[in-house]
Order: sequence, then structure tokens, then C-alpha cells
Amino acid sequence: MLDTIVTGGLVVLPSGPAPADIAVAGGKIVGIGAHGSFAAAGAVRTVAASGQYVIPGGVDPHVHCGWPITVPGTTNPALSGPPEQVSRAALYGGTTSVLDFAVWSPGEVLSASIEKRMKEWAGACFCDYGFHVMLQGKIPPELLGQYAEAIQDGHASVKIFTTDITPSRKGRMIQFGDIWEILKVTAREGGIAAIHAEDNDLVMHMYEKLIREDRTGFENMAEVHSTLSENLAFNRVIRLAENVPGAALYMMHTSAATGVRAIAEARARGAPIYGETLHQYLLYNADDYQRPNGQMYHTYPSLKFQEDHAALWAATAHGAIQVVATDELCCPLKVKTQGRRIDDTTGGNSGVEPRLAVIYSETVIKRKYSLQDFVGLVSTNAAKILGLYPRKGALAVGSDADIVLLDPKAARTIRAEALHETDYTPWEGRAVEAWPSLTMLRGKVVVENGVFTGDLKDGQFVPRKVADEIRARPAV
Ligand SMILES: [Zn+2]
Repeated sequence: MLDTIVTGGLVVLPSGPAPADIAVAGGKIVGIGAHGSFAAAGAVRTVAASGQYVIPGGVDPHVHCGWPITVPGTTNPALSGPPEQVSRAALYGGTTSVLDFAVWSPGEVLSASIEKRMKEWAGACFCDYGFHVMLQGKIPPELLGQYAEAIQDGHASVKIFTTDITPSRKGRMIQFGDIWEILKVTAREGGIAAIHAEDNDLVMHMYEKLIREDRTGFENMAEVHSTLSENLAFNRVIRLAENVPGAALYMMHTSAATGVRAIAEARARGAPIYGETLHQYLLYNADDYQRPNGQMYHTYPSLKFQEDHAALWAATAHGAIQVVATDELCCPLKVKTQGRRIDDTTGGNSGVEPRLAVIYSETVIKRKYSLQDFVGLVSTNAAKILGLYPRKGALAVGSDADIVLLDPKAARTIRAEALHETDYTPWEGRAVEAWPSLTMLRGKVVVENGVFTGDLKDGQFVPRKVADEIRARPAV
């Protein structure tokens, strides 16, 4: 007797879409076969999927839950939405796994920093999760050994900033010599480095210049966090990694044509460099800063320009960009719009829930991408690059039964009040051509036709290990 049979749908398999049924037992996919092939086995529950696309649960590899948000004029940060809030919205939108960050601060022992984060999330997240280890500031030599242990414990990726981002966030940036040492550890121990790459000299120069010229409005953000900065920083850190055999990079929130080109050139040389962009970087640009509450569209580095859109989109078609993430930082509109300056505007965005529907509409419907390529951008590729595959990101025998029914008859216009994130959405008024009708996490139906049945005991930490082929060459 099976637990569940998902029957009658068009299943997006690793080999491509096919009419198929999926058998689920013990939280895993235990069989995939032609329609009707598991009927004789029987199941506790049958999920009818006819007329729907059956896809692996989304993987959002870039979210910040419970994250300090600077409140202008005070030293007390607000906190972004907790995992409970973000994961619930994620499941509503068809995302079943998220990667957040475990932050190390100077003076701490890394295992203690990670343990603290693990404790905060245990029993506090509705979906599955993992953490990028975030290092910052000066890296003491003994930390490198601690980080090697963290990789072996399943925290396979390390987040590195090449910039402090804004003048008030001093301490984020890691010096290049230290980055070099960290890359040697990732290469030796089987990790991958997730990079926020901006040229700190150039960024801080532009802060000084614009403040001097009294042009501090956030609408000038793309002048500070510029395409030239992305050009210099991406090429510099990529060149560093290329001089460490086996060092793989995951370039976070690529925003500009210059970043795309840097990744593409490195991949053409055979380097294991991967690119992430964000859905708002693909669909909004610096002109959107001029709209009412234009901070809604911002996340650091910055929105760029039309020509950057074109390059980013072209790169999502088997090019330099493999992943569309959110950089989720869920907060009320009041918090998102509290800063008005280039140096105090709140970054991140609320977008984890509509991500799949928006990207489906923009890829499959508008740009005629295959269903498989769409699934790659929102699930499979992140799982592969960051070490969750094939447990996550695939509908395959042995994979977790993280299964989403995407309903192409559920077209709608996105409204904040119909979402489960916060009191606004940067996607307000956007038409999408499908919506998830059912989300299953490891065999348990957690959302069905808008009804949430998840439990905070459901979410599990998922240890990650990056496959050798991912680290050897551009394998995705
Ligand atoms: Zn981020």
C-alpha cells in the first residue's frame, strides 16, 4: 500500500515532461510510471493532477529570515519576517526548500554560530531548509579549519562579501587575501563559495561623491552600485577562483550585463562558475525607483537598465544564469520604505510566494522556454549547484516527494491581500498565467486549493554536499 499516488498529470521529469503517475511512500518518490500503473498497488490518498503540470518543489537558495534591518536614526535594527512567515508563503507559492544564512561574527567559534542558527530554526520553519555559512570581516587562520568542518557537516556553501555594501555596514567585506584562503578550503573540502561581488573602492567612492553633491535619493542607487562595479568585482573574484584549482563560485544576485559577461567568459574557459539573478532584477529596472514607494523594487546591489535586462534574460536560456532566486527579506511596507537615501534604503524584497508563477509566465508563456528549463531556473539548478540534488530539485525515484501541482488554468493578477507574505508585494497588479494548486513536502500535502495544512514540525534541515562534477567544470 502506497501513501499517495499523484495521477493524471504532465510530470516534468529530469528527462523532460511526460504523462505519468508518481507513487509516494515514506516521504519519498518510490515509483514513476504511465498513468494508471500504480492503481493496483492502492494508496491511502490519490491526488488527481489531470490538466496540471507536476513539478518538483521550488528551491529558493537566497532568503534572509529574522534578519536585522537598519532603522534610520536608531541603533536598534528591526527584524525581517521569521522562517515561520516566509516558509508558509514559500509553500503557498510552490517552494519547498529555502537556503538562509548562518552568520559568523569576529570572535565567535563557527560551530557555535551555526548551532545558534540551527536552534532558531528547529521547529520554526514549515518547509525544508539549509544555511550558507556567512563569514565577514577579518578571517583568523583558525577559522579556516572550523569552516572545513562546517562543510563536512552539510553546510556546503560559504557567503562572502567583497564590499561593505553601504558606509554604515562596515565589517561585512572580506579582504582578498582572506577570500583566497577560504577558496582553498572550499576547493579542498568540497564546498562552493556564494559571492556578493561589488567593487568596494568604487561603491564607497560613489557614496562620497553623491553625498558631496547632495544627490542622496535612493533613485540614484544604480550610480552607486553600478554596472562598472559589477564588472570589476565579478572579474576580480572569478580570476582569483580560477587560480585555485577546484574552487567553484556561485555569483549571487547578478544584476548587470557586465556580470553576465564575466560569468559567461569564465564558463567558456571551463571554470565552475555559476550565476544567480533575482526575479526583480529580470523584470524591474532603475526607472522603477521613480514610481510611488519605489524602494519596493530595490535590493542591493541595485536595479539596473534595459540593456541589463536583455543580457540577464538571454543568460537564463542555457547561459551564464542558472538560478532565479528572491533575496527574500520579508517586512511591512512601512519598513521597506522607511529609508529614502542611497545609504539607508532597505534591501531584499518580499517575493518568495509569487516567484514560481512569475517565472513560469515570463519563461514558458512569454519566451517559449520548455517546462524543463523553467523548472531548472526555479528548482533543479539551484539544487544541483548548491548540493541538494537529487534529494531536492527532481521528480525521480529516491528523491524527496516534494511535489507541486502547477495549474495553468489558474491565471490571475497578483494582489498583496491574496498572498501570505506581508502587507505589500512588489508584484502588485502583475498578471501570471498559472498558480500552484497543491504543494507536497516529503509526501505530506501542506497546501491544497489555498488551504494550509503545514506544521512547524514539518520543516527539516537538509545537509548539502556539492557533487564533484559541479566543482570541476560548468556542469549546469
Ligand atoms: Zn541576500
